[in-house]
Amino acid sequence: MSSGSTISDSRDDSIAVDVGATTPAVIVPIPLLHRHRLRPIERKPDGTLVVHEIYRSIQGESTFAGLPCVFVRLTGCHLRCGYCDTPHAFLEGSIRSLDQIVEGVHELGGDLVEITGGEPLLQLEVHPLMTRLADAGKTVLLETSGAIDIVPVDPRVRVILDIKTPGSGEAAANLWSNLDRLRPTDEVKVVLCDRGDFDWAVDIVRRHRLVDRCPVLFSTAFGAVSPTELAGWILESGLPIRLQVQLHKILWDPAARGV
Ligand code: SF4
Repeated sequence: MSSGSTISDSRDDSIAVDVGATTPAVIVPIPLLHRHRLRPIERKPDGTLVVHEIYRSIQGESTFAGLPCVFVRLTGCHLRCGYCDTPHAFLEGSIRSLDQIVEGVHELGGDLVEITGGEPLLQLEVHPLMTRLADAGKTVLLETSGAIDIVPVDPRVRVILDIKTPGSGEAAANLWSNLDRLRPTDEVKVVLCDRGDFDWAVDIVRRHRLVDRCPVLFSTAFGAVSPTELAGWILESGLPIRLQVQLHKILWDPAARGV
C-alpha cells in the first residue's frame, strides 16, 4: 500500500483561531468557531483525501459487528466528544489519492469496508471514494457523527449515524434533518454516558419512530456505564433497541490503535 506524504499539526487545538470566512471547496463548510480544527485537511490537493490509517480488523460497532472488515480512517473532526477514543485522528494523516486508497483497500481483501474517522464527511472526496468502492462490489459502511448532511452519500452505502447525547458534550451539533433521510439499510448509534443520556435518547427514538425505520443501537461510553446496567434499562424501556459493546475494547487493549 502506498504511504503518501505525511502532514501533521501539533498545535493546541483548544485555542480558537479565526481562519477567515471562506472554506476551501474540498471540505464541508462548518461554523467559524470550529474552522481551525479543519486545518489538517485544508492543505490537501483537490482529488485527494487525508487518511489517518487503513487497516483490517473486526467490525465492532454496528449490526455487522464480529465480521472482518477493512477500515479507512480519515483525518479531521470538528467535534470534541468527551469520550472520543480516536483523538489521534484529529491531526495526524497522510495525503493519498483515491487510487492509492482503493488499492490499499483491495490489498487488504474482503467484501466489507468501513469509512470512519474523525468525521469522514468533512472531506468531500469521500463521496467518489465510497462510490468507487461500491462499484467494486464492496459493502460500504459509513460511520458519521450525525453532524454533517448525509444527503450526498451514495444510496448503496450503509450509513451508521451517531446521535450525540448531552453527556457527549456535542448534542448541539446533531443535524436533526439527517433522521428524516435514514433508510432501512442505515443504522442509528447512540453512545450513552449516564441514565440521563439514556432517557434523552429513548425520547428521541420514540419521537422519530426510529425503531420502525432502521436498526437502533445503544452502547456505553467505555467505563462510564456498565453494559449490564444498560441491558436492564433497555429491557425496562420495552423498545427493540440493540445493545452493543465496543468489541475491539474487549478483544484488545482498550487503548490500542489500528484495531
Ligand atoms: S465525532 Fe467521533 S471522532 Fe469526532 S470527537 Fe466525537 S467521537 Fe471523536
